[in-house]
Amino acid sequence: MDIRFEKAANLKEKPDFHGELGFGKYMTDYMFVCEWDKGEGWHDARIEQLKPVELAPECVVLHYAQETFEGLKAYRTEEGKIQLFRPEMNARRMIKSNERLCMPAFPEEDFIQAVEELVRVEKDWVPDEPDTSLYIRPFMFATEASLGVHMAISYKFMIICCPVGAYYPTGLDPVKILVEDELVRAVKGGTGFTKCGGNYAGSILGQVKAEKQGYTQVLWLDGEEKKYVEEVGTMNIMFKIDGEIYTAPIEGTVLPGVTRDSMITILKDWGYKVHEEKVAIDTIMKAGHDGKLEEVFGTGTAAVVSPVGELKYKDDVVVINDSKTGELTQKLYDTLTGIQWGKLEDKYNWTVEV
Ligand SMILES: *Cc1c(COP(=O)(O)O)cnc(C)c1O
Repeated sequence: MDIRFEKAANLKEKPDFHGELGFGKYMTDYMFVCEWDKGEGWHDARIEQLKPVELAPECVVLHYAQETFEGLKAYRTEEGKIQLFRPEMNARRMIKSNERLCMPAFPEEDFIQAVEELVRVEKDWVPDEPDTSLYIRPFMFATEASLGVHMAISYKFMIICCPVGAYYPTGLDPVKILVEDELVRAVKGGTGFTKCGGNYAGSILGQVKAEKQGYTQVLWLDGEEKKYVEEVGTMNIMFKIDGEIYTAPIEGTVLPGVTRDSMITILKDWGYKVHEEKVAIDTIMKAGHDGKLEEVFGTGTAAVVSPVGELKYKDDVVVINDSKTGELTQKLYDTLTGIQWGKLEDKYNWTVEV
């Protein structure tokens, strides 16, 4: 793929990388853009100054949410190198999401090339403070101006980036999670396995409800019986029960997380039995009361792992490991972040130097 570079007229002043970067607050100077039209396919790939997108009010994405996205990071190592973590997994997942939403595939090699070239252009935006990174957000949406519900005839694929601060400035911090027993996120045959904006639109109410009760996140149950645990808002979830690991299977309703896959590989390598199977919320709560629910943690690109200190389901509350970060959770965090920031040997060949 040929990527045209259009130099920006002026560059922004960068935020203080040692201060509070937060998440998604400061976009970098440039973005990658590519257009797709029926007949022509992908064309006009370019890296240009970040600016607003102009869309017709009747544009398909604004009405029918034909949109998919991805999320990955660029990490700066102690030697100053920049590396990506398993970007091919994001490229492939986006193709799967797009298939489900009747959107064109952006080829895997082009996806990786676009991410790499944009990160190279924005290399000075990759922060070097411990645990900071450059978050990369590829996304695609239907641009056709038309109110009819159909597969659109034009799309835009874009990539934007923002430096993000340490997720845990003071160490891993367990969260309280509310098990949602009324609303559902995904059903079999639906779009649960895709990273599409629509999935999130439908989940915000659950998040609001949880926050009202003093909980940070929602644990979603399966959409049919509301019986089996599936995943958390933006993370997959794992349970350590009696020394073994349990997580929901990838069967169409759960997002196939890159972090989830990496954790399973590491856990198996360490000799843990990992069950990718349906587990009833009743089983989890009972294990909690029987003292067998040793650790619970979410997995995702943003936080890597997020220890869970408390689960509330209906009127039942279970406190996990005294609301402290479990030993295995901490070890997984140290191992994966060690690989991502280049402090540990990358024996799985997961990192890609930019
Ligand atoms: C992105 C996402 C995850 C985590 O995926 P990673 O590839 O590990 O970042 C989990 N669940 C949902 C719903 C997501 O959107």
